[in-house]
Amino acid sequence: MTAVLRRAEAAMAAAGVNALLLGPGADLRYLTGYHALPLERLTLLVARADGRHTLVVPRLERPRAEDAGLPGDVAVADFAETDDPYRLVSAALDGSGPSPRLAVGDRLWSAFLLGLQATFPGASWTAASTVTRELRMRKTPEEVAALRRAGQAIDRVHTAVPELLRTGRTEAEVGRDIAERIVAEGHEAVNFVIVAFGPNGASPHHETGARILEEGDAVVVDIGGTLGGYCSDCTRNYVVGAAPDGYAQAHRALEEAQRAAVDAAGPGVTAAAVDAAARDTLEEAGYGRWFVHRTGHGIGLEEHEEPYIVAGNDLVLEPGMAFSIEPGVYLPGRYGMRIEDIVVVTPDGCERLNTLDRDLVRVSA
Ligand code: ZN
Ligand code: ZN
Ligand code: ZN
Repeated sequence: MTAVLRRAEAAMAAAGVNALLLGPGADLRYLTGYHALPLERLTLLVARADGRHTLVVPRLERPRAEDAGLPGDVAVADFAETDDPYRLVSAALDGSGPSPRLAVGDRLWSAFLLGLQATFPGASWTAASTVTRELRMRKTPEEVAALRRAGQAIDRVHTAVPELLRTGRTEAEVGRDIAERIVAEGHEAVNFVIVAFGPNGASPHHETGARILEEGDAVVVDIGGTLGGYCSDCTRNYVVGAAPDGYAQAHRALEEAQRAAVDAAGPGVTAAAVDAAARDTLEEAGYGRWFVHRTGHGIGLEEHEEPYIVAGNDLVLEPGMAFSIEPGVYLPGRYGMRIEDIVVVTPDGCERLNTLDRDLVRVSA
């Protein structure tokens, strides 16, 4: 953590920012390890470019903050129920002059931002991500190892899915079993479970519901959790009984598109080029118009973060960047499919952190 704070200080100095002001969330966890509760009471890390850091917390949260094993150079300042927390923020920024440049957490609640703006009328404001994205996007070997462990755990959950897919069961029943296994395989939290039977698979973010599994249904299972603070996210496709017309052929094209994008991903390549590799392959196979979303998203402490693998993103990939490659084909009213793996860029290409077979999984009805 201390090393992360040093990098953050250097990044602030380079960006001309006096301090980062971070509420509960991934940036705060990244810099301090503290998993703060999002409360109506202010919790705010004031991380200064000059290395003087203060975590402002409600007094009743102080024990939690101290238990988090904060870096040694982060002082804790607490306030009682009737105190003004912004006075502590003022004190933490003491000596920054009348017009500091402050980088405020992208997801800090507007109630707190308004309080900060009233406290520092002379400040200029920017988003914390202008500083933190450059750090968080490039994973350390320890972070990659954590993502790999999460990936292996979610792969084991997928291995158990076929036995859960029995005709007569609802998406919700299968989803609950999957959620249990996500935890049983070591995740501390279930982030989402998408189970889509038949035509529901044509909605990429289908809400797992009451549909009953029938023979001949294609099934999309997209699942993820958090393990050791880092997220997993993996999608596979199953078919119960005989596959619907045209399904197997589309799935082969999708496998090829996903492989093309994985083959394209590597250092020196743009995020847009990875998206194009998947998209062009599906275009050529005649499914281009049914691929309705970007190819992927970064992943780490958050399920969706930078870099986004999308047309127009000219970000050049570097070793340590981790993201999903998840092209899909969605035929409204019929079925959908998506193949998703997390990859991390290596010095000479990329490594898949999900290593399960990507073939269509046939389950007998
Ligand atoms: Zn998604
Ligand atoms: Zn994803
Ligand atoms: Zn997913």
